[in-house]
Amino acid sequence: MTDQNRPPLALPPFVPHLFSEDKFHDECGVFGICNHAESAAHTVLGLHALQHRGQEAAGVVSCHKEQFHSHKSLGHVADNFNAQPVIESLPGDSAIGHVRYSTAGGAGLRNIQPLFADLASGGFAVAHNGNLTNALTLRQLLVSKGAIFQSTSDSEVIMHLVATSTYLALKDRFIDSLRRIEGAFAIVALSKDSLIGARDPLGVRPLVLGKLSDSSYIFASETCALDIIGAEFIRDVEPGEVVTINGKGISSVKPFPLQKPRSCLFEHVYFSRPDSLTNGTSVYKVRKNIGKELAKESNIKADLVVPVPDSGTPAAIGYAQEANIPFELGIIRNHYVGRTFIEPSDQIRHLGVKLKHNANRGELEGKIVVLVDDSIVRGTTSTKIVDMVRQAGAKEVHLRIASPPTTDPCYYGVDTPRKDKLLASNMTIEEMTKYIGADSLKFISIDGLYRAVCNRNRDKGSPQFCDACFTGEYPTSLTDNTQEDTPAQISFLQEIRKKT
Ligand code: AMP
Repeated sequence: MTDQNRPPLALPPFVPHLFSEDKFHDECGVFGICNHAESAAHTVLGLHALQHRGQEAAGVVSCHKEQFHSHKSLGHVADNFNAQPVIESLPGDSAIGHVRYSTAGGAGLRNIQPLFADLASGGFAVAHNGNLTNALTLRQLLVSKGAIFQSTSDSEVIMHLVATSTYLALKDRFIDSLRRIEGAFAIVALSKDSLIGARDPLGVRPLVLGKLSDSSYIFASETCALDIIGAEFIRDVEPGEVVTINGKGISSVKPFPLQKPRSCLFEHVYFSRPDSLTNGTSVYKVRKNIGKELAKESNIKADLVVPVPDSGTPAAIGYAQEANIPFELGIIRNHYVGRTFIEPSDQIRHLGVKLKHNANRGELEGKIVVLVDDSIVRGTTSTKIVDMVRQAGAKEVHLRIASPPTTDPCYYGVDTPRKDKLLASNMTIEEMTKYIGADSLKFISIDGLYRAVCNRNRDKGSPQFCDACFTGEYPTSLTDNTQEDTPAQISFLQEIRKKT
């Protein structure tokens, strides 16, 4: 049978929302180290430091004399990599690791990274932070050509592209595959002789390069993962850069068409740890600046500035300093429960907020309180916290938010609900104020946020950051999201859900 008279392949229907709801989207942290006798132990330490980037699952792949070893598990790093036998099962002088976040539906062993494949040229492992915006389209194409996918992770597309690339050298195959994907990626990859770190052309998700001894190099999502192992921060992996470390030393290429970088603004607002450096700048300092700008824009006469811990704390400190209002811990956080966002159902999320925070009544009674948080997504946290502060006797509660209204979902790896669940995309600020129950509600302006982060207003023609969650302006094409769900797609979605 020739290709011409072959019946068309029955492709699965296009399902743009399958993975957006099923948590195709991940918030993740990646780590990689080479030329170190204790590579697995260091990777586990690095993942400890990156735990805030993903609490659903963790995995490590190590390489010892061309043999690859792997340990992956659902749950926290501390729960699954705490025993010596686990570390001993990961021998070798190079290793990569991954922590993963997703909510209901997308969890499952087969989606845990690093992904590993035995390719013609040897083993290859990949750990990916970010989200690809053409993964479904590529997946459809690959499946139509016979590829058998083992997970619902967008990152697996990269593996298949590497496996089927027509280039010879593994590094070239990898680069070839990166040139075909769209969206956000900070990737650490491991072959039998090389450790590779790569960042998408816009540099949406972060990736840094560090050094431990004379010869041991590290890639990590954030500098806090270098600190934990005593490594020195060398520099950010640049947007569009692919850095390879092997026996010949360290080399770098920029294989993508040059673009103006647009790293993620939300990393500064919420996602990165405050003790990390993002684009070489202290996240903590930037968050304090955001609080200062917020105070300049929306100050009010008050007795106290109170942070919503922990995410609102640096901004609240900046706000209090700028407004010259006393800063107090009016809400105490219980550190032994996870982030509320992780809880799958609205009901549990409500419970989560109560589990996590308690009002410090003695500080709040009879006071006019400025409450500072980093962001409002669904509005669950703010509603509960404002109520809690009022119940504790505050006279007035004025909510100040250290980011502009979150109006649009992120397609680049920060898990946000669909637009219809985002409070700010459904309500005016006046309506939100009533819904949350605050006496007043103000968000920092987008220009104010830019000034705090980079000392300049937003360049409207060519913004300095990816700020799509606040502006709806996506810096890449959203190839997988151009079609609406049809009834056939929805039923396909339900079928797949049953299986996953
Ligand atoms: P919500 O309760 O849905 O309005 O969520 C807002 C709270 O969740 C804020 O206090 C943030 O600290 C936190 N948050 C915001 N975005 C995210 C995210 N993508 N993942 C996890 N937590 C988040």
